[in-house]
Amino acid sequence: MSSAHPAVFLGHGSPMLAIEPNRYADGWRQLGRSLPRPRAILAVSAHWYIRGTAVTAQAQPRTIHDFYGFPPALYAVQYPARGDPQLALRVASLLAPTAVRQDEDWGLDHGTWAVLRHMYPDADIPVVQLSIDASLGGAQHYALAQRLAPLRDEGVLVLGSGNVVHNLRALQFDAAAPTPAWARSFNTAVQAAIRERRHAALAAYEQLDAGAAMSVPTPEHYLPLLYVLALQRPGESAAVSLDGIELGAISMLCVQVGGD
Ligand code: ZN
Repeated sequence: MSSAHPAVFLGHGSPMLAIEPNRYADGWRQLGRSLPRPRAILAVSAHWYIRGTAVTAQAQPRTIHDFYGFPPALYAVQYPARGDPQLALRVASLLAPTAVRQDEDWGLDHGTWAVLRHMYPDADIPVVQLSIDASLGGAQHYALAQRLAPLRDEGVLVLGSGNVVHNLRALQFDAAAPTPAWARSFNTAVQAAIRERRHAALAAYEQLDAGAAMSVPTPEHYLPLLYVLALQRPGESAAVSLDGIELGAISMLCVQVGGD
């Protein structure tokens, strides 16, 4: 048992899931109702993958529509949650001696708002985003994320948003096509390693399974998972709350740490 606030990793998939009825959004909505209400949210989104570590420091972050060729309704979505400059400073102090830039330019990207608009439709919980430093490897991200552990005792929901399997070049639009073996195999291997708490193997995902290279052609959608698993405490569970592979190449796997 733990009183620490749960941490969650969500597979976010297509931006359209933000506005179209679907079973994943139903799951995220249910999750928002079942979790204890957080004081603030620290989101680690696949879509803020940059050189260096930064946090959004604005009192009112803007909604970023960081995708191309989607319908106007998706560009009209706003997620007007407040920021939390105090939390941004707290994250910087926890991550020291890693330098954390207080950023005034980014905002909430669709990795964050596409899921939060279902979890917390009223946008009444402050949100800070933490970037993913593209110069670090899996084990380094895991170690960095471990320093965020005290936030769970401060009522902060740490939210990782990405996809365990994410290969846009391998998307299948034929609904009758079977899910490729590499995607199923990697998605299953990740779940087994989570269940068995093999975090070092998950941080070294390149060697986790034969499907790794096709499933994680670039690391940004996988790495947010490590930020959540790094917060798992002794005796706590990490439970898969949703699963599914969309278009043969996008895993919608969601994991909750703690809260048991
Ligand atoms: Zn994405």
